[in-house]
Amino acid sequence: MEFIDLKTQYRELKTSIHERMERVLGHGQYIMGPEVFELEERLAEYVGVKHCISASSGTCTLLIAMMALGIGSGDEVITTPFTFISTGEMIALLGATPVFVDVDPDTCNIDPAKIEAAITPRTRAIMPVCLYGQCADFDAINVIAEKYGLPVIEDAAQSFGATYKGRRSCALSSIGSTSFFPSKPLGAYGDGGALFTDDDHLAKTMREIRVHGQDRRYHHSRVGINGRMDTLQAAVVLAKLERFDWEVGRRAHVAARYDQLISAACPGVVTPCVLPHASSVYAQYTLRVDVRDELSKALNALGVPTAVHYPIPLHLQPAFGYLGLKEGAFPVAEACSQSVLSLPMGPDVTEEQQIFVVDSLQKTLQGFA
Ligand SMILES: *Cc1c(COP(=O)(O)O)cnc(C)c1O
Repeated sequence: MEFIDLKTQYRELKTSIHERMERVLGHGQYIMGPEVFELEERLAEYVGVKHCISASSGTCTLLIAMMALGIGSGDEVITTPFTFISTGEMIALLGATPVFVDVDPDTCNIDPAKIEAAITPRTRAIMPVCLYGQCADFDAINVIAEKYGLPVIEDAAQSFGATYKGRRSCALSSIGSTSFFPSKPLGAYGDGGALFTDDDHLAKTMREIRVHGQDRRYHHSRVGINGRMDTLQAAVVLAKLERFDWEVGRRAHVAARYDQLISAACPGVVTPCVLPHASSVYAQYTLRVDVRDELSKALNALGVPTAVHYPIPLHLQPAFGYLGLKEGAFPVAEACSQSVLSLPMGPDVTEEQQIFVVDSLQKTLQGFA
């Protein structure tokens, strides 16, 4: 079996994906063609915000969001050390300093109780990440942000389709940012991403930055980038929206079945913690185990693919060595990085596959005992 199966989905949606891509090849508007705007409209409606601005990746969206907020040299942005590199990377690329705040041991998302202590006169934004598909605790984060007049950027690269207290991911703060990297819950067949906001001014600024800071043809009101999403990728995502709601439901079902099977058969393995007011899209189904490295090796040998998201927290990455942060700086994130293990997950994982995965897990753990 595969860690993330994209082929079954392709088989199911083949006709509409081909039709939509052929339409683009026919009209030839490969850059900012009508599918791009159709997708933005559909996604804004889905999320429940006024504006959606598509972009070339979920990394580029973070960059555009922070550029629109005027973040740059000397500024600080508060974020989590337990995330994919992009989150910290784009802060650093702008010359700002990522200020890490440790995570909650249950959800692995930023711990709101520790944010306030990290705020300084240089803080310009808070950027929580919705890890594994579950939103961070935005009510608590927004209260702190409001108190200090700070914008909040949701790195929702893994959580498109998730809900938090009845609202959708990407609609929970000043700006929501997601990714259409192929293996994300809503994926393209290449790179892509999108930004969401209810703020008209921010939306206009982000739209301009996406196209070289251009406010009208060959007139550049600010410095921007080439951050557009390809029309062909927009066509793929549009086709995938057809069964996206079904997929979100299937992901929840597969996760619930794993929870059930694993808690019955594998004592000592901690299944994902989703808070009662939230729903996850399970970009990853991630366990916590003591014997992670041995376990993943043994599972792989039995034909169960696994992955570690993520083995090194950002503050211990060589790229952020200049920050001078040492082991022990964020003990919860460090403990997570040692114990997390992701199992095969997706809408097309079958009952038989789940039983095979959990049987393998159970046998391996019994062998360790
Ligand atoms: C995938 C991911 C990104 C980057 O998205 P790309 O589209 O691959 O650039 C950013 N943040 C997080 C948390 C991610 O998981």
